[in-house]
Amino acid sequence: MIVQFWGAAQTVTGSMHLVHYQGKKILLDCGLFQGRRRDAFKRNRDLPFEGSEIDAVILSHAHIDHSGNLPSLVRSGFKGPIYATSATRDLAVYLLLDSAKIQQSDVKYVNRKRKKNNEKPFTPLYEQEHAVAAIKQFRPIGYDTNFEPTPGMQCRFHVAGHMLGAAMVELEMQRPGQSPFKLVFSGDIGRPDMPILKDPVTIPGANMIIMEATYGNRLHPKGGDAKQVLLEAAMDAHQSGGKLIIPAFSVGRTQEIVYRLNLLAEAGELPKMKVFVDSPLAVNATNVFREHVECYDDEMLEQIMIEEDEDPLAFHDLYYVRNVELSKAINQLREPCVVISASGMCESGRILHHLKNNIEQPETIILFTGFQAPHTLGRILLDQSLDIIKIFGQPYEARAQIRRLESSSGHADQSELFNWAQAMAEEGDLEKIALVHCEMDSAQPFKQLLDKSGIGPVLIPERGQTVAL
Ligand SMILES: [Zn+2]
Ligand SMILES: [Zn+2]
Repeated sequence: MIVQFWGAAQTVTGSMHLVHYQGKKILLDCGLFQGRRRDAFKRNRDLPFEGSEIDAVILSHAHIDHSGNLPSLVRSGFKGPIYATSATRDLAVYLLLDSAKIQQSDVKYVNRKRKKNNEKPFTPLYEQEHAVAAIKQFRPIGYDTNFEPTPGMQCRFHVAGHMLGAAMVELEMQRPGQSPFKLVFSGDIGRPDMPILKDPVTIPGANMIIMEATYGNRLHPKGGDAKQVLLEAAMDAHQSGGKLIIPAFSVGRTQEIVYRLNLLAEAGELPKMKVFVDSPLAVNATNVFREHVECYDDEMLEQIMIEEDEDPLAFHDLYYVRNVELSKAINQLREPCVVISASGMCESGRILHHLKNNIEQPETIILFTGFQAPHTLGRILLDQSLDIIKIFGQPYEARAQIRRLESSSGHADQSELFNWAQAMAEEGDLEKIALVHCEMDSAQPFKQLLDKSGIGPVLIPERGQTVAL
């Protein structure tokens, strides 16, 4: 009985851990590694095993850094079941198809470089047909429901509070002549009091925890009331006649913002203006949110019980835009409005058209709602580091107002992670914790914190490292 760490080991992305149990190989997550495009492409293409060697996959949640390399696994011969919660399966359908499209455009970039070096061109990491094949292998399972990925291994999903459908994975493995060994894989750990979603839980009796520590080194800023920040931005745009543009990830952040705007609209506080959700992926994801009541917290459930507001992801002036022509028409609109669009870091997608058309107007407000990675257009705008920015190769003067919604991370911060680990240790017979899904500058301080409190022992596995269970 061993676990081998093949991804998100001393880095954040590419989550992938292989459990060997009684001659079977069970893979926890099969995520895309995201980094410099060329390195990422090679890492994702060269899986450390053949897909045909793997007996089953257990998927913690639909984010691409956890699910995005499933089509490659299928391409390399994986024919087994992919266990996930129902909401994760439903979101993965759209996210994997979207990812296949991105792979096709990424390979063009890689091949331009290869051509310069007289190297043979690559084919895409995977194509739509591989994504579709992976989708067919999903086996949706409810939360808190036992299933057996292989004889002798009992598994259950628990609420992780990180995104719709996100789960912590509990694996209980029978050992001859001993009590069963309980391995808990945290997946990504969410935060208490996130809108829409239930809070993360703890699981009693763990012998080993594979735990994420993305923010093991920092506390999230308190950052005031998100509803208030949104309301002020909307009122200011309404008053000055400008547009409020909100770059947001299509799955999760978009629905949180719509939900908050819905509360403001229902309370009669939101000024009279049209609100557009302009992203086909966001429209599809919102429909998935509507179907998964089992993921809702009490506040969201109360909302759907209000007779006049059965759908907390809809209100009178809200328009979901799928069609390209309608998307373009928003730019012709000469009245204040709110536009929520993707991508969240302004790297691609329809958000670029809205920025291009409005960034030079001082009455435009751009409200950032999530992490902006270094070197992305989102980060450049947020830091206000350049007066002239480039969109589609053309220069634009950055005159719009820049604002930020602070308290909106989907990941637990240092103190929330610590509280979770402490509760898990108290309730269990803990033999070790492996920290994953983090850079070393997060992992080291968090390990020290746990060491000091006698929680552990803690290891920070390297890629390829094997640990006995
Ligand atoms: Zn995630
Ligand atoms: Zn993640």
